[in-house]
Amino acid sequence: TMAYGPAPESTSAARDWLAKGPFGLFIGGAFTAAGAPLETRDPARDEVLAQVTMAGEADVDAAVQAARAAQPAWEGDPQRRARVLYALARQIQKRERLFAVLEALDNGKPIRETRDIDVPLVARHFTHHAGWAALLADEFPDTRAHGVCGQIIPWNFPLLMLSWKIAPALAAGNTVVLKPAEDTPLTALLFAEICAEAGVPPGVVNIVTGDGDTGAALVAHPGIDKIAFTGSTEVGQVIRRATAGTGKALTLELGGKSPFIVMGDADLDAAVEGVVDAVWFNQGEVCCAGTRILVAESVADRFRTLLKARMASLRVGNPLDKSTDIGAIVNPRQLARIRDLVAQGVAAGAVAHEGTAPEGCFCSPILLDEVSPASPCVSEEIFGPVVTLQTFRTPPEAVDLANATRYGLAASIWSENLTVAMDLAAQVKAGVVWINATNLFDANAPFGGMRASGFGREGAREGMAAYLRKGTPVAGQTPPAI
Ligand code: NAD
Repeated sequence: TMAYGPAPESTSAARDWLAKGPFGLFIGGAFTAAGAPLETRDPARDEVLAQVTMAGEADVDAAVQAARAAQPAWEGDPQRRARVLYALARQIQKRERLFAVLEALDNGKPIRETRDIDVPLVARHFTHHAGWAALLADEFPDTRAHGVCGQIIPWNFPLLMLSWKIAPALAAGNTVVLKPAEDTPLTALLFAEICAEAGVPPGVVNIVTGDGDTGAALVAHPGIDKIAFTGSTEVGQVIRRATAGTGKALTLELGGKSPFIVMGDADLDAAVEGVVDAVWFNQGEVCCAGTRILVAESVADRFRTLLKARMASLRVGNPLDKSTDIGAIVNPRQLARIRDLVAQGVAAGAVAHEGTAPEGCFCSPILLDEVSPASPCVSEEIFGPVVTLQTFRTPPEAVDLANATRYGLAASIWSENLTVAMDLAAQVKAGVVWINATNLFDANAPFGGMRASGFGREGAREGMAAYLRKGTPVAGQTPPAI
């Protein structure tokens, strides 16, 4: 039995929308009839939400053909691209509540986060890239779009990752075939619906739902010019091998195990709030989550006490309850993986401090203290609400610990001395370093990793550059003379 009552947040609009299923694919500006069924579930209530379509090779081919046919005209009209991207931002704002509820149902994340973080960031991302479309000829002279982009995204921020992929690709004049994760296809399908309302020409955006085989078919398709992937390091490696020698452009946003460094002079209350944002946001299913606390020995005991008290106040439960801090884990397989890595840590001598969680696909916040540096819980991405704690004595020791994984996505450094913080930031191997902050995402700041966390940037000028190649602009690229 579920340890929570009826949903305080009304889901009636979302239930009406779901009743339109089973859902087909969005190809060439229209939905196909539903095909081979793929079930998507609400992990919090352990029930089926909808049937979508498992796209096969022929479907992927149809989507790529539609994208190819639409691409030249789309690239030729930058002012239209700007208008359409603004209109998409506006349509997302108009449907923000439906998007927020659907995302919470499909992924299990709290409504407070989908409503206040995911959906507003998505709208902002489209607005930002509308600006780039209009500025392209001036800001990126002598460039062309790649052509058709195949885009594959994970389940942790379904709509936000869609916007990070689609907005810059479209702004640059590419057309896209996007494959959402098998666990969370719903907001991508709602997005497909609003494409028509926002004036996206048929074929410019195509959505193919499916699993890893569908993704592999997209990667292998000869009509694709660029692949953009966000997901696990393992699948990233497979995709890099598959694209080697094909001439396809590639960007990879992969996993992480980001350090969260607390110096002896840090504001400890702020740093504890930082941990909440770093690893207890989105159930810790965040690629850049600050999952390894490295704290100066001089303040470690005080920090532990404050952290445990704060941890005890976190509420785990119904994603649709506005007071919920941590929702459901995306699926039982992921929960089992989290539990397994925690158990391995404990077997290697870690002391686990746990909050409480309802029965079902939920995980309480967990602090693993006194972890052995050799335990996989310190080196492997857990992708759950689990944080490890290690101590250091000197700044060089902190840097060594920070760099002691194969990853290099993000880092967070807490110190009242900005000189010390900046000096450390330069030595930590990470694509993004936040000082006295964590998990800040802005369309105008490039995000991405190094080492096993991948390569390429999303957001800002660097993110635009990733969707462009050198070349003579098509005729329409030159803005009309004033
Ligand atoms: P995953 O790699 O299993 O799946 C990601 C996507 O790839 C899904 O859409 C999946 O269907 C597809 N896929 C699976 N096998 C494929 C194949 N052989 N060819 C093509 N596509 C394939 O990852 P996940 O479990 O969905 O997501 C969690 C992972 O994503 C974590 O490791 C996390 O760190 C990472 N992630 C990274 C970022 C980032 O920006 N760096 C952001 C979010 C998540």
